[in-house]
Amino acid sequence: MEEAKNNNSGTAGGRLEGKVALVTGAGRGIGRAVAVALAREGAAVLVNYNGSREKALEVAGQIQRDGGRAEAVGCDVSDFAACGKMVEELAAKYGHIDILVNNAGVTRDNLILRMSEEEYDKVLDTNLKGAFNTIRHLAKYFLKQRGGKVINISSVSGLMGNAGQSNYSASKAGLIGLTKSVARELASRGVCVNAVAPGYIATDMTEGLPEKAREGLARMIPMGRVGTPEEVARLTVFLAGPDSDYITGQVICVDGGMCMA
Ligand code: NDP
Repeated sequence: MEEAKNNNSGTAGGRLEGKVALVTGAGRGIGRAVAVALAREGAAVLVNYNGSREKALEVAGQIQRDGGRAEAVGCDVSDFAACGKMVEELAAKYGHIDILVNNAGVTRDNLILRMSEEEYDKVLDTNLKGAFNTIRHLAKYFLKQRGGKVINISSVSGLMGNAGQSNYSASKAGLIGLTKSVARELASRGVCVNAVAPGYIATDMTEGLPEKAREGLARMIPMGRVGTPEEVARLTVFLAGPDSDYITGQVICVDGGMCMA
């Protein structure tokens, strides 16, 4: 863990003052935007990374320069024991962790006839088991605190399915089941568990898609444009803060109208 501290508490919002937030996969993309937005509201942010150490340090550094508190924390979320160690160390150091954003995710797209077992396992292990791992280790702290906010970053693929993404869609649909079940288990103790389902957001993940696939996706968006990581971050901050205290077990899309129930 690489400490990044700053005593200057000049933050923009302040709705999350005194809170500690763990954001998985926060070195880049949506996770990065979420980390920065949470810090702007006053939360101390634990910027988790797996491969992108330098980028995570950069995010923590940016937050500090802006007057917030942040620390880059390396951990592969698909590793149950490693997640346990990370959570124990952070809880001992900070005394409490109030917000968990399960954002880490990968794709390994392929048609079902060609999909390998490795491609399937990699996506499920990261996207779904990764969220179980962090929730499983943090739940006892939330219960003891009688409060907490968990936000799982799912996807419209988990609601609608997507050709070539049976592994990814299964992981994101699984995340919705996990969200609703844990929400029911923890609701009476003041813990809110919700899912955010982004549509087509401009990040490294979608940059890698073939041009044809990107054009096809863009045509499916009633608002006629892709979304930004910051637009996903705004909803996530709302779900992490006190204004959403009576909302749990919900799946909310940020998708320009792509998926309407
Ligand atoms: P990126 O590919 O830009 O970023 C993925 C992030 O996940 C990286 O920070 C990466 O960290 C992290 N990650 C991957 N594997 C692990 C792991 N084993 N342990 C810890 N962190 C890991 O993707 P996005 O920002 O676009 O996606 C973020 C989330 O939003 C994902 O869950 C994705 O499925 C979801 N989403 C994205 C959409 C989009 O259109 N972009 C649409 C719907 C949902 P590192 O680089 O350090 O390994």
